Amino acid sequence: MRYISTRGNAPILDFEQAMLTGLARDGGLYLPETIPQLQDLAGFEGLSYEEAAFRVIKPFLGESFSDEELTRAIAAAYENFGHVARAPLRQLAPGHHLLELFHGPTLAFKDFAMQLIGQLFQIALQRSGQRITIVGATSGDTGSAAIEAFRGLENVDVFILFPHGRVSEVQRRQMTTPDDANVHALALSGHFDDCQARLKDLFNDYAFRDEVGLAGVNSINWARVLAQVVYYVTSAVSLGAPGRQVDFTVPTGNFGDILAGLVAKRMGVPVGRLVIATNQNDILHRALTSGEYRTGQVEPSISPSMDIQVSSNFERALFWAYGGDATAIRQLMEELRQGGFTISQGALQALREDFLSGRASEQETLETIRIIRDETGEILCPHSAVGVKVAREHLREGIPMITLATAHPAKFPDAVEQATGIRPALPPHMENLFDLPERSSRVENDADALKSLILERRTA
Ligand SMILES: *Cc1c(COP(=O)(O)O)cnc(C)c1O
Repeated sequence: MRYISTRGNAPILDFEQAMLTGLARDGGLYLPETIPQLQDLAGFEGLSYEEAAFRVIKPFLGESFSDEELTRAIAAAYENFGHVARAPLRQLAPGHHLLELFHGPTLAFKDFAMQLIGQLFQIALQRSGQRITIVGATSGDTGSAAIEAFRGLENVDVFILFPHGRVSEVQRRQMTTPDDANVHALALSGHFDDCQARLKDLFNDYAFRDEVGLAGVNSINWARVLAQVVYYVTSAVSLGAPGRQVDFTVPTGNFGDILAGLVAKRMGVPVGRLVIATNQNDILHRALTSGEYRTGQVEPSISPSMDIQVSSNFERALFWAYGGDATAIRQLMEELRQGGFTISQGALQALREDFLSGRASEQETLETIRIIRDETGEILCPHSAVGVKVAREHLREGIPMITLATAHPAKFPDAVEQATGIRPALPPHMENLFDLPERSSRVENDADALKSLILERRTA
């Protein structure tokens, strides 16, 4: 399996190299040259999550990992989840289901991918003896998931950039309380988009990149997208695929999670519509509606993991919508640096065949948390509530809707309490989170300052 960059000017890599690299050298994102078709979807019925994961992921790996290595990695990745189904479905209303993706160690869907790539990185690095420095930017949940997946590993340092003062207290503490020497939580003065931009600066400095063995585990990493394809497949099969279509609504920020849904569809899962749900930071909703992808100011919200104006993974959907024209993508990304671009008519039509979109205001998000609690007893996190609000506007007769519940409500207790009067409790394994000492460093929104800090702190 060959991996190519959306911008067409980076070396072609195999799966392992694409996973270890993250961002392509030309600034693009890696994609498999072709998407394999899932064999025997009906045969997924009754499989464990782990067995299904093996069947979905294996065809993308080429020679990179043996069957035995993949089986071992998958088993280790999901054994610490708090639910034996890993990604259980819960019914909200006739025809509307919630896919609970928050039973992993850090209580957000990021664990599904991060736990698996932690295992795969470890296998690859043990084989090669290589040392690497992982740098990640987070709007809150990726950071803790990465730290949880890589803490204490021998050949790895993990640096996580989070926007100072703009993540929830639970999110921050999950990043600042692990005391492993290879974990470095960095509070950057700025927004998530600044964190993401500085991360790109590091990757674009080839000398620095090679010196520290820079590796990216942000949602742009193809291996993460791939791991997320699995729960689209398992949930669709639970509700009747391949014999029945299903729609999905996905609370969306960086477009990694919903892109995995598109991959599932391209693999042959009968996915009808993929509905993009955004909060008041609605660049994707505006882009789908008007064809204009224009960045604005980030407005902090009660669903902070979606407070994003540049959705990195959207570049992959654009690449497909433009028929694999890397030159066109390079041009668009150049225009994006000046503030935005117009999606061509043909590409917009292609995108609209797969995607619909909607947005939820702050008030609507709180209202949805309250309504769903009253109607079902289920307590939603604010991100999941954005999804449920938008999903309810897109329900179709005879086609089940699955809304992805992306985080546990206890990660965002203030918003949930404001909506319902109930302060959701953390699960038992995290009860001491507020008693542990915190450790983090402030860093300016400046690439050079960041590089010096990484060189100084590295344990390598
Ligand atoms: C990361 C995250 C999202 C957004 O997912 P993307 O893949 O970035 O679109 C939504 N909800 C929660 C809770 C998240 O952590």
